[in-house]
Amino acid sequence: MSAQDCIFCKIVRGEIPSRKVYEDGEVFAFHDIHPAAPVHFMIVPKQHIASLAEVDESHRAIMGKIMVLAPRKGKPPAKAAAKAGPSKAAVAAKAASAKAAAEAAAGIAKK
Ligand SMILES: [Zn+2]
Repeated sequence: MSAQDCIFCKIVRGEIPSRKVYEDGEVFAFHDIHPAAPVHFMIVPKQHIASLAEVDESHRAIMGKIMVLAPRKGKPPAKAAAKAGPSKAAVAAKAASAKAAAEAAAGIAKK
């Protein structure tokens, strides 16, 4: 799949609307439209990577950045964190990153 057709690239370009969580020069994070956890969002590289099968040494920095960002951006607002407790927040962040990785690996691009 080319960057032109890629759903994640379309989201990054704003061609498909999303609820943005975070953005910088390299990555874009947005809420999953079908949340499977209290906090569930996707973090995608702005650089098109078709699937985890195509990740190579040149992607080391960006993949590491995504893994480091996931638990930080996965923390709910202070009020919700106090209610949920730190363990649930951590689990949700883990679920979010695991799902993002799994979806990237599967090359899911249905919408
Ligand atoms: Zn893409």
